[in-house]
Amino acid sequence: MLRQFELVDRVKSYDPKANEDLLNRAYVYAMKAHGTQTRESGDSYFSHPLEVAGILTNWHLDSITIATALLHDTVEDTLVTLEDIHSIFGEEIASLVDGVTKLSRLKFKSDQDKQAENFRKFILAMSKDLRVLLVKLADRIHNMRTLKYVKSPEKRQRIARETMEIYAPLAERIGMHEIRSELEDLSFAELHSEIYASISHTLEHMRKKEENLITQVIEKLHEILSKEGISSNISGREKSPYSIWRKMQRKNITLEQLSDIIALRILVKNLSDCFHVLGCIHSIYSMIPGRFKDYISVPKDNGYQSLHTTIIGPFNHPIEIQIRTYEMHDIAEMGVAAHWNYKEQNFTTNFLTEPNSEEKVRKEGSQYRWVRELLEILEQTSTPKEVLESTKLEMFADQVFCFTPINDIIPLSKGSTPVDFAYAIHSSLGERCIGAIVNGKPASLETILENGDQVEIITAKNQPSPSIWKRFIADKLMRPSIRKTIPSKQSETLS
Ligand code: MN
Repeated sequence: MLRQFELVDRVKSYDPKANEDLLNRAYVYAMKAHGTQTRESGDSYFSHPLEVAGILTNWHLDSITIATALLHDTVEDTLVTLEDIHSIFGEEIASLVDGVTKLSRLKFKSDQDKQAENFRKFILAMSKDLRVLLVKLADRIHNMRTLKYVKSPEKRQRIARETMEIYAPLAERIGMHEIRSELEDLSFAELHSEIYASISHTLEHMRKKEENLITQVIEKLHEILSKEGISSNISGREKSPYSIWRKMQRKNITLEQLSDIIALRILVKNLSDCFHVLGCIHSIYSMIPGRFKDYISVPKDNGYQSLHTTIIGPFNHPIEIQIRTYEMHDIAEMGVAAHWNYKEQNFTTNFLTEPNSEEKVRKEGSQYRWVRELLEILEQTSTPKEVLESTKLEMFADQVFCFTPINDIIPLSKGSTPVDFAYAIHSSLGERCIGAIVNGKPASLETILENGDQVEIITAKNQPSPSIWKRFIADKLMRPSIRKTIPSKQSETLS
């Protein structure tokens, strides 16, 4: 069990300004509140919130979130009330604990309407502060890791199904790929224990055959990359039983027909090294056409960036290779949690050389846009069944991706115009925008942009007259970002 000073030291290791006093108070308070309660495993109950706090330190979260994790089950499972938490720890922690408590009360029912209704409340509760969701995900990971101690098979199945259907997809949505993968594997082991066991068994067997080969390839790559003067970290990663099972189903193949179970991952310092490494690999090994993916130039909508290629290794054995920077790797593993670590840097696009702080905040906010979009879908659809279907299916059907002249990608809502595009880049660009060139041709500012359009914004030296903007103000496509800027600018001009 993590000791009090160890927890504080962990937080201080990535956040020197950590609020030690708060962490100590939350630790002692939660420990006393849970008292002699035990879990089904026989462990003291307090070991659970402590483990959850430990998981959150791996994601480098702030003292407030860690304290919330320590306190997250006190209101639900002890005599402590929310008012107690509020008076002792203040408004912010009380509202986070309240959010987590509300999520804990939701149960995933088999009945469709109920399901959707709960799901909806769940999303609403979580979207107030993403830290609520992060605490809940850490809570779910620990509960899944200890699921085997739960005695009732029905309860185990319900928790596993809920994890598979709701928490794993949510983890993926906020870019926490590793977490999704762990949640899926743990659920899979419970929901389909026999298939899980047989895949694990086969993996064991294949691992022995493949390991030598992978070692050979890693050695060769090390040799070549060091000759090129690239420092890198190369590791082999076994695919998870669940991802293998999905592949078997998708491609309709048997376990015996699986060719590669280990993927190589190469981490390098910077972007240009990624492409350099790719070039080196392709010059030694042949690649399998159609398997190359450049998620660096076109990141996935959860922010994932990496180069993927599959080469034909020794003995004609296909080997999948992922190449990315350390920073991309942290974001791939930790998603939104990693953005906290990198928030001092301009990691999203390199289009703006020196964004002001307001701009930075807005850009970070766009990481969470899917939450807002999800809320819009929830508000627009009428029946619970519809809600369930639309949220499960395509949360991003409402987006278009357009390019700047230097091929930076700008995600926009469907129906966006070149004006929205300009504002999405920078408010000052939006304000000075008087025309646009779309895919090399002059286009009106009312043009509805489509996926893949390349857009160049023509600007006036000075700000255009407010009359140009009047029609946009009336326009239903008007974005809040424009609304915020224009009226004040207008009043300045008019006064
Ligand atoms: Mn809990």
